[in-house]
Amino acid sequence: TPTIGVLALQGDVREHLAALEASGVNAIGVRRRSELDAVDGLVIPGGESTTMSRLLVVFDLLEPLRERLAAGMPAYGSCAGMILLASEILDTRPDAQCLSGLDITVRRNAFGRQVDSFEENLDVTGVEGGTMRAVFIRAPWVERVGEGVEVLATVPGGPAAGRVVAVRQGAVLATSFHPEVTGDRRIHELFVGMVRDAVAARG
Ligand code: GLN
Repeated sequence: TPTIGVLALQGDVREHLAALEASGVNAIGVRRRSELDAVDGLVIPGGESTTMSRLLVVFDLLEPLRERLAAGMPAYGSCAGMILLASEILDTRPDAQCLSGLDITVRRNAFGRQVDSFEENLDVTGVEGGTMRAVFIRAPWVERVGEGVEVLATVPGGPAAGRVVAVRQGAVLATSFHPEVTGDRRIHELFVGMVRDAVAARG
């Protein structure tokens, strides 16, 4: 059984741990280097990307995490986690760090500051069984996708129609929305499958 970590510096850690456990893997919070070394994959939760970026430096996890991502560790980032996994962030603080696990440019708080949160029904490539209720909370969107990045979902209508809100590049997955708050486990199950594949390929 694979062990999947949830970066536990800030944000909605508990909900991801519960969703992962319900998806049949061992789930642990990651705050230390030794915990990062022990996981087969990592979830970076929603929260505040600039705060998490600062805490990654304080907890000496920034470089170890970059190294593991560069070595192919599967990762899934939701909202602030998507922002951290990007290779370029627009509308952030000048000292905000990114992990470059995905060749994408994200815009932070992209849906407008007055639009605090909203919900949409989305079709997500790789997720079977019909549309998914997606909860967006001060969410980013993806403004540029590099070669090799697959777009999994876009906003279907309204002023943000066509905006990219879910992507995958190899073993790294990211969504602008928060699947951990709806009880729909299909995104976590998709990620668990990616981690199982990576563990099997490693032998
Ligand atoms: N706006 C937050 C940020 O910039 C992300 C919000 C979230 O994760 N729900 O990090």
